Amino acid sequence: MSELAYPYEAPASQALFDRAAAVTPGGVNSPVRAFGAVGGTPRFMVSGSGPYLTDADGREYVDLVCSWGPMILGHAHPEVIAAVQEAVARGTSFGTPAEGEVALAEAMVERVAPLEEVRLVSSGTEATMSAIRLARGFTRRTKVIKFAGCYHGHVDSLLAAAGSGVATFALPDTPGVTGAQASDTIVLPYNDLEAVHAAFAAHPGEIACVITEASPGNMGVVPPLPGFNQGLKDACAANGALFVSDEVMTGFRTSRAGWYGVEGVVPDLMTFGKVMGGGFPAAAFGGRADVMAHLAPAGPVYQAGTLSGNPVATAAGLAQLRLLDDAAYETVNAVSARIQSLVTEALAKEGVAHTVQTASNMFSVFFTDRPVRNYEDAKAQESFRFTAFFHSLLSNGVYLPPSSFESWFVSTAHDERAVQRIADALPAAARAAAEATA
Ligand code: PLP
Repeated sequence: MSELAYPYEAPASQALFDRAAAVTPGGVNSPVRAFGAVGGTPRFMVSGSGPYLTDADGREYVDLVCSWGPMILGHAHPEVIAAVQEAVARGTSFGTPAEGEVALAEAMVERVAPLEEVRLVSSGTEATMSAIRLARGFTRRTKVIKFAGCYHGHVDSLLAAAGSGVATFALPDTPGVTGAQASDTIVLPYNDLEAVHAAFAAHPGEIACVITEASPGNMGVVPPLPGFNQGLKDACAANGALFVSDEVMTGFRTSRAGWYGVEGVVPDLMTFGKVMGGGFPAAAFGGRADVMAHLAPAGPVYQAGTLSGNPVATAAGLAQLRLLDDAAYETVNAVSARIQSLVTEALAKEGVAHTVQTASNMFSVFFTDRPVRNYEDAKAQESFRFTAFFHSLLSNGVYLPPSSFESWFVSTAHDERAVQRIADALPAAARAAAEATA
C-alpha cells in the first residue's frame, strides 16, 4: 500500500477497533464495516447530524453511506427524533399488537399499490427469508432462482454468488450453508432473461419463485435493462412461480413507492427494510393478499418475531415516511445528480476510466469505461483505483462506502455546504485514483 493510502492516523478509532477485536470476530458486527476491501482503520462514529458523521477522534465527515440507505432525511432529523422520544417514553416493547404497527403497515400499503398486506419483521434478512418460505409454502415447490451479485441478506439458501460483503471478501459461497440448501438455489447471471427461460425449462414445476433486487445495489448500482423485470414477472406467471421483488434497499428510497414507483412492474411478493425503519430495526414483506393469507396465524406457513412491529421502530419509520413527500424525493434526486456530475468531472479531468450508474438517487462509480450489466462486469473494474480514491476522500472528510461493490447514498440533508466539501475533496481523490497501481 502506498503512503498515500492512509494519510492520517485515527488513534481513538484504532483503540476502539483493538478493543472490539478482542471481543467480537473481526472487530465488527457486519463484515463490510471492517474496511477489509480498502484497508486502514474503520472509523468508529460517535454521532451523526444531518449529512455529517463525527468519529471518535472528533473528525467530521460528509456521509455518503447514510447507514447503507436508511438515513434518507439525514442523521438525527428533529421530527424523527421527537417521534422516537415520544414512543420510548411510552415503553419500548409490549409483545402485543399496538397501533403504531398498524399505522406503519397502512402507510406502506397506501404508497405501494401491489402491497395488499404486509407483515413486519426486524431485518431485511428476515424479510427475504420469510418471503422465500411463504413462496415455497404457497406453491409447494422447493427451488428458488436468484441472480449472481444480488444480495438478499444472509439467508442460508440465498448466500450463493451473493454480492455485498460476500463479493468484497470474494467468497462465492460460505461454509455453514449445506449442500442441500444451496442445491435448491439456482444462481443465474443478472439481466439475462434467456438464462431464466432456460432454468424454467430445465426444472418444470419445481421453481417456487424468482427473487431479485428490484434494482440491484449490492454489486454496485446495476439497474435492470428495460423489460428485464417485466420479463421475470411474465416468466413466473407462465410457470406458476412467484415473482419476489427485494426492495429492502430501493423501497421508499428510489421514489415514494420505491422501484415499483419507477418501473411499475407488479410483483407477487415484495420485501422492505432500511428507509421504512427510520434508522431502527424494522423491515417487512408483503404483497398479494391471497398469498399472504397463507401466513400464520391466518394460514399454515409459520413466521413470528418477539420484536416484530416494535413500537419505537414503527414510530421512527412512520415519522420518516410521513416526511418523505414528493419534494423530499426531488431534493434527494437533485443532490445525487449534482454529486454524480462532480465525481465525473473530477475523474474525467484526471483521465480516469469510470462509469457512473444510477437507479434514481442511488448511484455508484465503477472504475471501468464499460457499462456494468451484471456481476462479472462489476468484478472487471479496477478496484485498486477505488481504494486510493476512497482513502483520499476519507482523509479529506468524505465518507464513502468502503467497497467498490456498493451504492452511495445521499439524503435531503445534503445541502450546499456538504456538497461543496465533496467538491473540494474530489480533485485530490481523482488524482490519487489516476496514480494508483494494481
Ligand atoms: N436485501 C437487500 C437488497 C439488501 O440490500 C439488504 C442489506 O443490505 C438485505 C436484503 C438484508 O437486510 P438486513 O441487512 O437488514 O438484514
